[in-house]
Amino acid sequence: MKEMCPNCKSNFAAKDINNINKNSIFIEKQCPSCNKWFCLNKTLTIIKIIGIFLLLITSLLNIFNIKSEYSPVFSSIGLVGILMAIIVTFFGKHETVK
Ligand SMILES: [Zn+2]
Repeated sequence: MKEMCPNCKSNFAAKDINNINKNSIFIEKQCPSCNKWFCLNKTLTIIKIIGIFLLLITSLLNIFNIKSEYSPVFSSIGLVGILMAIIVTFFGKHETVK
């Protein structure tokens, strides 16, 4: 997967990133050409996390048959959630970390 640095606009493969900071939910990566740190847009990161949680919660409700009459509704919400997460992962914009 190709990544683009929001600062110097250079393209590089994800494997070329040497430094990744996973200390917060906003995973920060260091650009291999200009050494600036950047991360996925923070709003999009939150949307992605909400999406994953939606899938998790609705899956658990279905597994334990809680409110099973709403099971198709939960499945649909879970699907929307994971779609949100996938779209953000592949099309989300990166921004430079201040
Ligand atoms: Zn750069």
